[in-house]
Amino acid sequence: MREPTREEQIAIDAMKGAGSVMVCSHVNPDGDAIGSVIALTLALKAAGLEVVATLADDAPAPSTYEFLDGFDLFVPNRELVPPQLFVALDSPSWERLGAAQPLSFRAGSTLTIDHHRDNHRFAAYSLVEPEAASTGSMIWHMLPGLGVEPTPAIASACYVALMTDTGRFSYGNTTPEALRDAAEMIEAGAVATSLYQRVYESRTPAAMALLGRVLSRITLANQDRVAYSWMEERDLAETGATPEETENIIDVVRQTGGIVVAAFFKVEGDHVKVSLRSKTRRFDVSAIAKEFNGGGHTAAAGCTVRGTLDDATGQILSRLPGHFA
Ligand code: AMP
Ligand code: MN
Ligand code: MN
Repeated sequence: MREPTREEQIAIDAMKGAGSVMVCSHVNPDGDAIGSVIALTLALKAAGLEVVATLADDAPAPSTYEFLDGFDLFVPNRELVPPQLFVALDSPSWERLGAAQPLSFRAGSTLTIDHHRDNHRFAAYSLVEPEAASTGSMIWHMLPGLGVEPTPAIASACYVALMTDTGRFSYGNTTPEALRDAAEMIEAGAVATSLYQRVYESRTPAAMALLGRVLSRITLANQDRVAYSWMEERDLAETGATPEETENIIDVVRQTGGIVVAAFFKVEGDHVKVSLRSKTRRFDVSAIAKEFNGGGHTAAAGCTVRGTLDDATGQILSRLPGHFA
Protein backbone atom coordinates (compact mmCIF):
# COMPACT_ATOMS: atom_id res chain seq x y z
CA MET A 1 0.00 0.00 0.00
CA ARG A 2 1.23 3.48 -0.89
CA GLU A 3 2.29 5.52 2.17
CA PRO A 4 1.19 9.18 2.12
CA THR A 5 3.94 11.76 1.60
CA ARG A 6 4.37 14.35 4.36
CA GLU A 7 2.40 16.91 2.34
CA GLU A 8 -0.37 14.41 1.60
CA GLN A 9 -0.57 13.52 5.29
CA ILE A 10 -1.01 17.21 6.20
CA ALA A 11 -3.85 17.48 3.68
CA ILE A 12 -5.43 14.24 4.91
CA ASP A 13 -5.22 15.39 8.56
CA ALA A 14 -6.74 18.75 7.65
CA MET A 15 -9.72 17.02 5.99
CA LYS A 16 -10.17 14.36 8.67
CA GLY A 17 -10.03 16.99 11.41
CA ALA A 18 -12.68 19.24 9.88
CA GLY A 19 -16.25 19.14 11.14
CA SER A 20 -17.54 20.09 7.72
CA VAL A 21 -15.81 20.05 4.34
CA MET A 22 -16.76 21.76 1.08
CA VAL A 23 -15.14 20.56 -2.15
CA CYS A 24 -15.00 22.83 -5.19
CA SER A 25 -13.00 23.24 -8.40
CA HIS A 26 -12.53 25.95 -11.01
CA VAL A 27 -14.87 27.98 -13.24
CA ASN A 28 -15.71 26.38 -16.61
CA PRO A 29 -15.10 22.98 -15.05
CA ASP A 30 -13.43 20.36 -17.23
CA GLY A 31 -13.23 16.60 -16.75
CA ASP A 32 -10.51 16.87 -14.11
CA ALA A 33 -12.46 19.51 -12.20
CA ILE A 34 -15.70 17.52 -12.15
CA GLY A 35 -14.04 14.11 -11.72
CA SER A 36 -11.75 15.14 -8.87
CA VAL A 37 -14.55 16.87 -6.95
CA ILE A 38 -16.84 13.84 -7.27
CA ALA A 39 -14.03 11.44 -6.30
CA LEU A 40 -12.96 13.40 -3.22
CA THR A 41 -16.54 14.02 -2.09
CA LEU A 42 -17.40 10.31 -2.37
CA ALA A 43 -14.16 9.40 -0.56
CA LEU A 44 -14.76 11.81 2.33
CA LYS A 45 -18.33 10.56 2.66
CA ALA A 46 -17.00 7.00 2.82
CA ALA A 47 -14.59 8.18 5.53
CA GLY A 48 -17.60 9.35 7.53
CA LEU A 49 -17.05 13.09 7.13
CA GLU A 50 -19.68 15.73 6.59
CA VAL A 51 -18.95 16.92 3.05
CA VAL A 52 -20.64 18.82 0.26
CA ALA A 53 -19.61 19.35 -3.37
CA THR A 54 -20.17 22.67 -5.08
CA LEU A 55 -19.25 24.57 -8.23
CA ALA A 56 -17.35 27.79 -8.90
CA ASP A 57 -19.97 28.70 -11.52
CA ASP A 58 -23.59 29.63 -10.95
CA ALA A 59 -24.52 27.42 -13.91
CA PRO A 60 -25.19 23.72 -13.29
CA ALA A 61 -22.39 21.18 -13.78
CA PRO A 62 -21.80 20.37 -17.48
CA SER A 63 -24.16 17.58 -18.50
CA THR A 64 -21.29 16.01 -20.46
CA TYR A 65 -20.36 14.33 -17.17
CA GLU A 66 -23.82 13.50 -15.85
CA PHE A 67 -23.22 9.78 -16.46
CA LEU A 68 -20.79 9.76 -13.52
CA ASP A 69 -22.06 8.24 -10.32
CA GLY A 70 -21.98 11.14 -7.85
CA PHE A 71 -22.88 13.80 -10.42
CA ASP A 72 -25.97 14.52 -8.29
CA LEU A 73 -23.78 15.53 -5.33
CA PHE A 74 -23.29 19.11 -6.55
CA VAL A 75 -25.17 21.76 -4.55
CA PRO A 76 -25.29 25.33 -5.98
CA ASN A 77 -22.87 27.59 -4.08
CA ARG A 78 -25.61 30.17 -3.35
CA GLU A 79 -27.47 27.59 -1.22
CA LEU A 80 -24.51 26.89 1.04
CA VAL A 81 -22.97 28.37 4.20
CA PRO A 82 -19.19 28.50 4.70
CA PRO A 83 -17.69 25.20 5.89
CA GLN A 84 -14.97 24.54 8.45
CA LEU A 85 -12.66 23.52 5.60
CA PHE A 86 -12.92 24.65 1.98
CA VAL A 87 -11.01 22.37 -0.41
CA ALA A 88 -10.14 23.90 -3.79
CA LEU A 89 -9.27 21.31 -6.45
CA ASP A 90 -7.46 21.88 -9.75
CA SER A 91 -7.53 25.67 -9.11
CA PRO A 92 -4.26 27.59 -9.10
CA SER A 93 -5.69 30.90 -7.79
CA TRP A 94 -8.59 32.49 -5.90
CA GLU A 95 -9.83 33.98 -9.17
CA ARG A 96 -10.47 30.52 -10.59
CA LEU A 97 -12.94 29.87 -7.74
CA GLY A 98 -15.38 32.32 -9.32
CA ALA A 99 -18.70 32.64 -7.51
CA ALA A 100 -17.53 30.25 -4.76
CA GLN A 101 -14.85 32.73 -3.62
CA PRO A 102 -16.96 34.22 -0.77
CA LEU A 103 -17.49 30.72 0.67
CA SER A 104 -13.76 30.08 0.61
CA PHE A 105 -12.97 33.45 2.21
CA ARG A 106 -15.39 32.78 5.08
CA ALA A 107 -14.42 29.14 5.61
CA GLY A 108 -12.67 28.20 8.86
CA SER A 109 -9.66 27.10 6.83
CA THR A 110 -8.67 26.34 3.24
CA LEU A 111 -6.81 23.58 1.45
CA THR A 112 -5.75 23.46 -2.18
CA ILE A 113 -5.02 20.17 -3.97
CA ASP A 114 -3.71 20.92 -7.43
CA HIS A 115 -1.20 20.06 -10.15
CA HIS A 116 -0.75 23.49 -11.76
CA ARG A 117 2.92 24.48 -11.59
CA ASP A 118 1.93 28.12 -11.08
CA ASN A 119 -0.43 27.46 -8.13
CA HIS A 120 -0.37 30.67 -6.05
CA ARG A 121 -0.44 28.67 -2.80
CA PHE A 122 -3.32 30.88 -1.77
CA ALA A 123 -4.80 28.47 0.78
CA ALA A 124 -3.77 27.79 4.39
CA TYR A 125 -2.67 24.29 3.32
CA SER A 126 -1.29 23.58 -0.15
CA LEU A 127 -0.75 20.19 -1.73
CA VAL A 128 0.68 20.98 -5.17
CA GLU A 129 2.24 18.31 -7.38
CA PRO A 130 3.14 19.66 -10.83
CA GLU A 131 4.26 16.19 -11.90
CA ALA A 132 0.82 14.71 -11.27
CA ALA A 133 -1.03 14.13 -14.54
CA SER A 134 -4.35 15.29 -13.07
CA THR A 135 -5.86 16.42 -9.78
CA GLY A 136 -7.97 13.26 -9.94
CA SER A 137 -4.72 11.25 -9.80
CA MET A 138 -3.72 13.09 -6.61
CA ILE A 139 -7.06 12.17 -5.03
CA TRP A 140 -6.54 8.58 -6.15
CA HIS A 141 -3.13 8.49 -4.43
CA MET A 142 -4.65 9.74 -1.16
CA LEU A 143 -7.36 7.09 -0.82
CA PRO A 144 -5.23 4.67 1.27
CA GLY A 145 -4.23 7.54 3.57
CA LEU A 146 -7.89 8.45 3.96
CA GLY A 147 -8.63 4.81 4.79
CA VAL A 148 -11.05 4.55 1.87
CA GLU A 149 -11.42 1.50 -0.40
CA PRO A 150 -11.81 2.63 -4.01
CA THR A 151 -15.32 1.96 -5.30
CA PRO A 152 -16.20 1.77 -9.02
CA ALA A 153 -17.76 5.25 -8.67
CA ILE A 154 -14.57 6.78 -7.21
CA ALA A 155 -12.39 4.92 -9.73
CA SER A 156 -14.56 6.11 -12.63
CA ALA A 157 -14.48 9.75 -11.49
CA CYS A 158 -10.68 9.62 -11.11
CA TYR A 159 -10.32 7.88 -14.49
CA VAL A 160 -12.34 10.57 -16.27
CA ALA A 161 -10.20 13.24 -14.57
CA LEU A 162 -7.01 11.50 -15.73
CA MET A 163 -8.23 10.60 -19.23
CA THR A 164 -9.37 14.16 -19.98
CA ASP A 165 -6.33 15.96 -18.52
CA THR A 166 -3.94 13.70 -20.49
CA GLY A 167 -5.94 14.31 -23.70
CA ARG A 168 -7.01 10.65 -23.81
CA PHE A 169 -3.54 9.54 -22.70
CA SER A 170 -1.76 11.43 -25.47
CA TYR A 171 -0.20 14.59 -23.96
CA GLY A 172 3.29 14.83 -22.46
CA ASN A 173 1.86 14.13 -18.99
CA THR A 174 1.02 10.56 -20.07
CA THR A 175 3.76 9.22 -17.81
CA PRO A 176 4.34 5.65 -16.64
CA GLU A 177 2.76 6.69 -13.33
CA ALA A 178 -0.32 8.04 -15.12
CA LEU A 179 -0.76 4.73 -16.94
CA ARG A 180 -0.14 2.70 -13.77
CA ASP A 181 -2.80 4.79 -12.01
CA ALA A 182 -5.18 4.21 -14.93
CA ALA A 183 -4.58 0.47 -14.68
CA GLU A 184 -5.37 0.54 -10.95
CA MET A 185 -8.54 2.52 -11.60
CA ILE A 186 -9.67 -0.03 -14.19
CA GLU A 187 -8.93 -2.82 -11.71
CA ALA A 188 -11.11 -0.97 -9.18
CA GLY A 189 -14.07 -0.87 -11.56
CA ALA A 190 -13.60 2.01 -14.01
CA VAL A 191 -14.72 0.71 -17.41
CA ALA A 192 -12.31 2.29 -19.89
CA THR A 193 -14.29 1.68 -23.09
CA SER A 194 -17.57 2.98 -21.72
CA LEU A 195 -16.00 6.03 -20.04
CA TYR A 196 -14.20 6.87 -23.31
CA GLN A 197 -17.41 6.59 -25.30
CA ARG A 198 -19.35 8.67 -22.78
CA VAL A 199 -16.83 11.51 -22.88
CA TYR A 200 -15.56 11.46 -26.47
CA GLU A 201 -18.03 9.57 -28.63
CA SER A 202 -21.37 10.94 -27.50
CA ARG A 203 -21.67 14.06 -29.67
CA THR A 204 -25.20 15.02 -30.64
CA PRO A 205 -25.93 15.64 -34.36
CA ALA A 206 -25.86 19.38 -33.55
CA ALA A 207 -22.42 19.07 -31.99
CA MET A 208 -21.21 17.07 -35.01
CA ALA A 209 -22.45 19.88 -37.28
CA LEU A 210 -20.52 22.40 -35.16
CA LEU A 211 -17.43 20.19 -35.36
CA GLY A 212 -17.77 20.19 -39.15
CA ARG A 213 -17.73 23.99 -39.20
CA VAL A 214 -14.68 24.13 -36.99
CA LEU A 215 -12.87 21.50 -39.14
CA SER A 216 -13.63 23.42 -42.32
CA ARG A 217 -12.04 26.55 -40.83
CA ILE A 218 -8.72 25.05 -39.80
CA THR A 219 -6.00 27.38 -41.00
CA LEU A 220 -2.23 26.99 -41.00
CA ALA A 221 -0.22 29.98 -39.82
CA ASN A 222 3.26 30.91 -38.64
CA GLN A 223 5.04 29.02 -41.44
CA ASP A 224 2.77 26.01 -40.90
CA ARG A 225 3.91 25.59 -37.30
CA VAL A 226 0.49 26.59 -35.92
CA ALA A 227 -2.99 25.35 -36.83
CA TYR A 228 -5.98 27.27 -35.58
CA SER A 229 -9.73 27.42 -35.94
CA TRP A 230 -12.53 29.46 -34.50
CA MET A 231 -16.24 29.68 -33.77
CA GLU A 232 -18.67 32.41 -32.79
CA GLU A 233 -21.99 32.46 -30.97
CA ARG A 234 -23.87 32.24 -34.28
CA ASP A 235 -22.41 28.79 -34.80
CA LEU A 236 -24.18 27.58 -31.66
CA ALA A 237 -27.46 29.18 -32.66
CA GLU A 238 -27.32 27.86 -36.23
CA THR A 239 -26.27 24.29 -35.39
CA GLY A 240 -28.16 23.96 -32.11
CA ALA A 241 -25.02 22.85 -30.24
CA THR A 242 -24.64 23.88 -26.59
CA PRO A 243 -21.66 25.74 -25.08
CA GLU A 244 -20.57 22.65 -23.15
CA GLU A 245 -20.37 20.72 -26.43
CA THR A 246 -17.43 22.91 -27.45
CA GLU A 247 -15.12 21.18 -24.95
CA ASN A 248 -12.55 18.94 -26.70
CA ILE A 249 -13.09 20.57 -30.11
CA ILE A 250 -9.49 21.79 -29.87
CA ASP A 251 -8.47 18.10 -30.14
CA VAL A 252 -9.43 18.02 -33.82
CA VAL A 253 -7.31 21.11 -34.55
CA ARG A 254 -4.44 19.36 -32.78
CA GLN A 255 -4.72 16.41 -35.17
CA THR A 256 -3.10 18.51 -37.92
CA GLY A 257 0.30 17.03 -38.75
CA GLY A 258 3.60 18.90 -38.55
CA ILE A 259 2.43 21.67 -36.25
CA VAL A 260 3.88 22.71 -32.89
CA VAL A 261 0.82 24.46 -31.47
CA ALA A 262 -2.95 24.18 -31.99
CA ALA A 263 -5.16 27.12 -31.12
CA PHE A 264 -8.92 27.49 -30.91
CA PHE A 265 -10.72 30.84 -30.67
CA LYS A 266 -14.25 31.11 -29.29
CA VAL A 267 -15.90 34.49 -29.74
CA GLU A 268 -18.19 35.35 -26.81
CA GLY A 269 -19.59 38.90 -26.87
CA ASP A 270 -16.77 41.43 -26.60
CA HIS A 271 -14.09 38.88 -25.82
CA VAL A 272 -12.51 35.75 -27.25
CA LYS A 273 -11.75 32.60 -25.26
CA VAL A 274 -8.52 31.03 -26.42
CA SER A 275 -7.49 27.40 -26.00
CA LEU A 276 -3.88 26.48 -26.70
CA ARG A 277 -2.29 23.02 -27.02
CA SER A 278 1.41 22.35 -27.50
CA LYS A 279 2.54 19.17 -29.23
CA THR A 280 6.06 19.37 -27.80
CA ARG A 281 7.49 19.77 -24.28
CA ARG A 282 9.86 22.36 -25.76
CA PHE A 283 7.10 24.92 -26.24
CA ASP A 284 5.17 25.87 -23.10
CA VAL A 285 1.74 27.29 -24.01
CA SER A 286 1.00 28.24 -20.39
CA ALA A 287 3.71 30.94 -20.65
CA ILE A 288 1.79 32.53 -23.55
CA ALA A 289 -1.59 32.15 -21.78
CA LYS A 290 -0.10 33.86 -18.73
CA GLU A 291 0.89 36.88 -20.82
CA PHE A 292 -2.85 37.31 -21.40
CA ASN A 293 -3.80 36.74 -17.73
CA GLY A 294 -4.69 33.09 -18.30
CA GLY A 295 -2.82 29.97 -17.29
CA GLY A 296 -2.65 26.21 -17.51
CA HIS A 297 0.00 23.62 -18.21
CA THR A 298 2.89 23.20 -20.66
CA ALA A 299 0.73 21.19 -23.05
CA ALA A 300 -2.72 22.73 -22.44
CA ALA A 301 -3.53 26.29 -21.48
CA GLY A 302 -6.13 28.97 -22.00
CA CYS A 303 -6.85 32.67 -21.66
CA THR A 304 -9.38 35.33 -22.58
CA VAL A 305 -8.57 38.22 -24.93
CA ARG A 306 -10.73 41.35 -25.12
CA GLY A 307 -11.72 42.41 -28.62
CA THR A 308 -12.67 40.82 -31.92
CA LEU A 309 -11.60 37.51 -33.44
CA ASP A 310 -9.04 39.35 -35.58
CA ASP A 311 -7.64 41.10 -32.49
CA ALA A 312 -7.28 37.79 -30.67
CA THR A 313 -5.78 35.78 -33.54
CA GLY A 314 -3.35 38.62 -34.33
CA GLN A 315 -2.16 38.95 -30.73
CA ILE A 316 -1.93 35.25 -29.98
CA LEU A 317 -0.29 34.18 -33.27
CA SER A 318 2.37 36.86 -32.79
CA ARG A 319 3.44 35.03 -29.61
CA LEU A 320 3.51 31.52 -31.08
CA PRO A 321 6.34 29.62 -32.83
CA GLY A 322 7.15 30.49 -36.44
CA HIS A 323 6.05 34.11 -36.15
CA PHE A 324 8.50 36.67 -37.43
CA ALA A 325 7.59 40.33 -37.13
P1 AMP B 1 -9.10 24.88 -22.08
O1 AMP B 1 -8.33 25.25 -23.29
O2 AMP B 1 -10.20 25.85 -21.76
O3 AMP B 1 -9.52 23.46 -22.08
O4 AMP B 1 -8.08 25.05 -20.86
C1 AMP B 1 -6.91 24.27 -20.76
C2 AMP B 1 -6.29 24.48 -19.39
O5 AMP B 1 -5.83 25.83 -19.31
C3 AMP B 1 -7.29 24.34 -18.23
O6 AMP B 1 -7.30 23.04 -17.73
C4 AMP B 1 -6.77 25.33 -17.23
O7 AMP B 1 -5.72 24.73 -16.49
C5 AMP B 1 -6.14 26.42 -18.05
N1 AMP B 1 -6.95 27.62 -18.30
C6 AMP B 1 -7.89 27.80 -19.28
N2 AMP B 1 -8.41 29.03 -19.25
C7 AMP B 1 -7.81 29.67 -18.22
C8 AMP B 1 -7.92 31.00 -17.66
N3 AMP B 1 -8.74 31.92 -18.17
N4 AMP B 1 -7.13 31.29 -16.60
C9 AMP B 1 -6.29 30.38 -16.08
N5 AMP B 1 -6.13 29.14 -16.57
C10 AMP B 1 -6.87 28.77 -17.62
MN1 MN C 1 -9.02 21.75 -14.97
MN1 MN D 1 -6.23 19.48 -14.04
